Amino acid sequence: MNEAGAANGRAPVPGVSHPPRGAAVRLICAWCGAIIKDGPGPVSHGICGPCAAPFDDLEPVRRIPAAPPI
Ligand SMILES: [Zn+2]
Repeated sequence: MNEAGAANGRAPVPGVSHPPRGAAVRLICAWCGAIIKDGPGPVSHGICGPCAAPFDDLEPVRRIPAAPPI
């Protein structure tokens, strides 16, 4: 008695669009809000060049010096 669409467990939801992977999302910088890549798809967040520049100078892992023994 089950409908064919419900048998696979993930029937498409009417009114909700799920863009395929690699869809043209609108990429916005989470730091300054600049549009990194414009597109008709849903909004995603990233980081633009100017905002990412300071991170280039940082070490990948910031080591905390061990406290001297008391
Ligand atoms: Zn930015």
